[in-house]
Amino acid sequence: MRIGLFGGTLDPIHFGHLRSAEEIREAMGLDEVWFVPAAFPPHKQHENITPFSDRLAMLELATASVEHFKVSPIEMERPGPSYSIDTLRELRKRHGSKIDLFFIIGSDAFLDIETWKDYSHLTDFASLVIMGRRHGDLERTREVISRAFPAYKAQGKKGVYTASARGTIYLNSVTHLAISATDIRRRARIGLSVRFLVPEIVRRYMRENNIYATKSLPLEHRPSELLVREIASEVSENKGEEIVVLDMRGRSPLADFFIIAQGRSTRHVQGTANKTQKNLKKKGIRCIGIEGEQEGKWILMDYGDVVVHLFYEPIRDLYDLEGLWSDSPRLILKEDRDEKGAGH
Ligand code: ATP
Repeated sequence: MRIGLFGGTLDPIHFGHLRSAEEIREAMGLDEVWFVPAAFPPHKQHENITPFSDRLAMLELATASVEHFKVSPIEMERPGPSYSIDTLRELRKRHGSKIDLFFIIGSDAFLDIETWKDYSHLTDFASLVIMGRRHGDLERTREVISRAFPAYKAQGKKGVYTASARGTIYLNSVTHLAISATDIRRRARIGLSVRFLVPEIVRRYMRENNIYATKSLPLEHRPSELLVREIASEVSENKGEEIVVLDMRGRSPLADFFIIAQGRSTRHVQGTANKTQKNLKKKGIRCIGIEGEQEGKWILMDYGDVVVHLFYEPIRDLYDLEGLWSDSPRLILKEDRDEKGAGH
């Protein structure tokens, strides 16, 4: 049996994952694709990850009607970080030579493979199938192949690399669906639709179980109006620009206030987020979820009743949260009053 393994945080499973798994299955003539959610992903902050049981449940719902898609909870069965090498070793031990394994990985993840535990041994247990996800990744992917797997030689056929007595490395392109789990979580948190990004049955599970909704998280024990002023002033102290505070009470079940601010570069945005978070923590105000801090284009910081959206300037216009919630009253901040006062 030829088995594809599709691993990842899968928080949540979405059509980008499902469609590419299907295309790889066809292209590689796989009998089955097994989705393997990471229990404790080594590269992610665990407190921000949805419980394994929910990620697994969403995967099972998403794949239930597809005979050749299976779900494997194998990474929950051992403690500690979910290293792919250990999973491959374990699967080999369980199934021996009855199965040929094809480890499927997106090119974005593959570009970081040199940070993975025992990465050069992955091909002792499986072939690698790298899915081209973004234009421009191809050159860099080839560079990483030759650096991380130096024994491999490109074969005449495009995108096939071999080394004696080891799994083959395949470079395959898949239809590029620009869907990311980070974006889905963010949309769900602020009450935007995730319809057509995830299977309908997954969307319903998310909604019924409050998977990414802010209000399902523990709330700050302070009146939200005091809290929002404290947080907004910290954002402003830390160079957040063009701050707008929307009063969402009675309009959104997700949060009482949105603080929207921007920075002139992604580093600016990351700096503001970082310092705001640190200073608030010193005051005993803890962030209960943060998204997007690695890219810095749109960072969402969740403080229960108050959600902060920090945008890299051009992205703010793209999402236009203020336009979307144009009915919500704006809260006048101390800074606004001072500025107006200064004009008189
Ligand atoms: P996050 O935004 O939380 O990082 P993600 O969906 O990008 O989520 P994972 O769930 O860890 O990340 O991804 C699992 C695997 O699916 C990885 O190999 C990744 O490259 C791939 N992948 C993620 N999104 C897509 C997509 N839209 N199309 C194809 N492959 C994808």
